[in-house]
Amino acid sequence: MLRICSFFLFLATLSAQSADWIWSARYVITEDAQHRVIENGAVAIRADRIVGVGTKAEIDARFQAAHRLDRPDAILAPGLIDTHTHAAMSLFRGIADDKSLQDWLNDYIFPAEAKNVTPDFVRWGTRLGCLEMLLGGTTTFTDMYYFEDVVAEVAKEAGMRGVLGETIIKFPVPDAKTPAEALRFTEKYLTRFRNDPLVTAAVAPHALYTNTDETLVAARALANRFHAPLLIHLSETKKENDDSLAQRHMTPTRVLDTLGVLTGRTVAAHCVWVNEADMAILKAHGVGIAHCPSSNMKLASGIAPVARMLALGLHVGLGPDGPASNNDLNTFEEMDLAAKLQKVATLNPEVLPATTALDMATIGGARVLGMEKEIGSLETGKRADLIVVSLDRPNAVPLYNPISQMVYTLKAEDVSDVMVNGKPVVRDARILTLNEAQILQKAAEYRAKISASLK
Ligand SMILES: [Zn+2]
Repeated sequence: MLRICSFFLFLATLSAQSADWIWSARYVITEDAQHRVIENGAVAIRADRIVGVGTKAEIDARFQAAHRLDRPDAILAPGLIDTHTHAAMSLFRGIADDKSLQDWLNDYIFPAEAKNVTPDFVRWGTRLGCLEMLLGGTTTFTDMYYFEDVVAEVAKEAGMRGVLGETIIKFPVPDAKTPAEALRFTEKYLTRFRNDPLVTAAVAPHALYTNTDETLVAARALANRFHAPLLIHLSETKKENDDSLAQRHMTPTRVLDTLGVLTGRTVAAHCVWVNEADMAILKAHGVGIAHCPSSNMKLASGIAPVARMLALGLHVGLGPDGPASNNDLNTFEEMDLAAKLQKVATLNPEVLPATTALDMATIGGARVLGMEKEIGSLETGKRADLIVVSLDRPNAVPLYNPISQMVYTLKAEDVSDVMVNGKPVVRDARILTLNEAQILQKAAEYRAKISASLK
């Protein structure tokens, strides 16, 4: 029997397919439809795609790889997906804490942005953000900021995947004096990054309360003309909801629906104050929700009804929100907090289990972005976005359940290797695509400049 098996294995080796990489690990968390976790598993990669997933023995027999990475004491998982952030705001990290969202925005962030945000600021801030995200296992980020063309250039330079939305807002901002100018800027940006393998260019009207109805309608029309997603903040605070109800007798979600802003791919960040009728609207339009637990907790915005959203079949992903409000870009932390926040809100420890939290950071996040056919799980045919998380540190042992370990135990710092679109970008916890020392130096220089500008 053994001899026959060896013979077939020999034959299989003779007919082995070529691959660029084989990555193997003690556990492969696939996030496929069966939620398979493969012990002693491996993934084969050719060009930008996954071409095989199975046990290490199967993959080694089927594929002849030019390069390999074997991590016998680690978890191999899909790259984590961030569905809402403002990466360039990394340069404002910790600029003002412990304020309400409105005070924080009006007294600190908007003035600091008016004085400091230039293409150079966005370039270095986004480099810092991408550095932190990639080292922490986030392979896709969803961004809303100014000079988003520069964000897109940096994402490509870092080798990171992004759904990147140019912000449109009703007051003068660093890259546009008027919303009309912002819309023209956005159209050029959408044209430039059409069909990019890493960047999905998006339209990002900041929120209902920071735009006129006309601008929102124009933003939707522009997005639909380019088949681009529309990113927006929605029902983040009680004040936003109360103002909308007082002024228009409708919730923000109802207003967007009435205006036709939800007719097309939409990612709505926060949705803390949505009611049952709002959730029915979001579900009917297939709107993806970006849940940002640490931001909502720190700004005391409230607790989004995530368990209810999931029960209704809404797609919910995770986001750190801006590193100025949160104050980091750490998808591991968001997974952990998302699970715990729903438990404490409902007094039910079973309401959002680890499996669901990991789904939200992977395949669920991909669904929010409408990219579930391309990313979010380790399956043959998908883009090769992979992370390796070490299991050899004190906080990682012993291990009874790899998914529980991913959500409640492992940290961003435990990530050792990252591949995006078939290209290794982190190896042995070192970035391969960016100049880390230079980025940290620039961050220090910007800190001095920003502080001086606020005096
Ligand atoms: Zn935000």
